[in-house]
Amino acid sequence: MTGRMARGNPQRRTRRIIAVANQKGGVGKTTTAVNLAAALAARGRSVLLVDIDPQGNSTTALGVEKSQVKRCIYDVLLKDPALDDVTIATKVSGLALVPATLNLAGAELELVSALSREQRLRSALRGTSAPYDEVIIDCPPSLGLLTLNALTAADWLIVPVQAEYLALEGLGQLTRVIELVRAHLNEKLRMMGVLITMYDGRTKLATQVVAEVDNYFPGEVFATRIPRTVRLSEAPSYGAPIATFDPKSKGAAAYTALADEVLAR
Ligand code: ATP
Ligand code: MG
Repeated sequence: MTGRMARGNPQRRTRRIIAVANQKGGVGKTTTAVNLAAALAARGRSVLLVDIDPQGNSTTALGVEKSQVKRCIYDVLLKDPALDDVTIATKVSGLALVPATLNLAGAELELVSALSREQRLRSALRGTSAPYDEVIIDCPPSLGLLTLNALTAADWLIVPVQAEYLALEGLGQLTRVIELVRAHLNEKLRMMGVLITMYDGRTKLATQVVAEVDNYFPGEVFATRIPRTVRLSEAPSYGAPIATFDPKSKGAAAYTALADEVLAR
């Protein structure tokens, strides 16, 4: 209730910025960014989802037709419009989106020679006039300048890890990048949690992976595990988060539980 009342109140500026990152592809970053954002909005928080992946999967998953998008996160990073000018409303109440289109594919290279190239997103977020409670950033599967922009802007990091063989692969490299970001770009960055995704408790492998991840990140793994369910993979093709597409599903319950864990932080 407090969250709902706070929506639109310009005096309340306790905004949190959460990056969802893992350079490994297909681990559930986008599924998590979209569904966590929607679940937080359903809890009455005012949420902005920032798609900073050239694949634009978060954008599509929210039913936004990329060919209709005139300006996207690319313009924010490399031209100078205010973030508010590229932000669009979504069908989900309380959830706004900064979309990504294929234009962003060139940004990684174009940013190399740009001034303050890692700070672009952080500055843009500071310039927004809208009072969001939560900003969620969906990162691409790389540790390039787009992900660095997200990590530099963020207060918190969520790392989805797929409960599969080689789940820990690349996490050492990610941990080193986080340390470098803390040392040089953003000392505020903190790990909110590692999120087990696509979990199937019936398999021995999944239980082993959870034990390994717990061991590698002691005390940092969310209690909520996201189950492997086909409904979660179907929702994007309907342009809706799971909370809208199938509110009674296991996947919807899991992302609501994750939102409650996030809200407890
Ligand atoms: P990329 O690195 O390409 O951005 P990603 O990390 O964002 O990928 P997703 O796009 O969220 O990963 O998920 C990869 C694929 O797995 C998608 O087809 C998605 O629908 C599916 N998927 C994600 N989570 C689940 C789940 N819990 N159960 C079943 N399928 C899932
Ligand atoms: Mg993705």
